[in-house]
Amino acid sequence: MAIMTTCLLNEQIIDIVSAIDLKDSGGIPHPDFRCTECAQPVRPHRSGGHAAAHFEHLERNPNCSQSHVAH
Ligand SMILES: [Zn+2]
Repeated sequence: MAIMTTCLLNEQIIDIVSAIDLKDSGGIPHPDFRCTECAQPVRPHRSGGHAAAHFEHLERNPNCSQSHVAH
């Protein structure tokens, strides 16, 4: 099961740690994070409980191998 830990921001690869830092810093109000595979919008989820930090698609994309939700 794939856990997405990188995405695209302005056509640059960014990792989950940097993405959460960026969100927390408030430097960019609505960063346009995109899936590296399908280029659909994703958002960072911080780690908590049993889940490691990862990106999730805003809308699940059945055609994208990165779009599985880890349970
Ligand atoms: Zn995708």
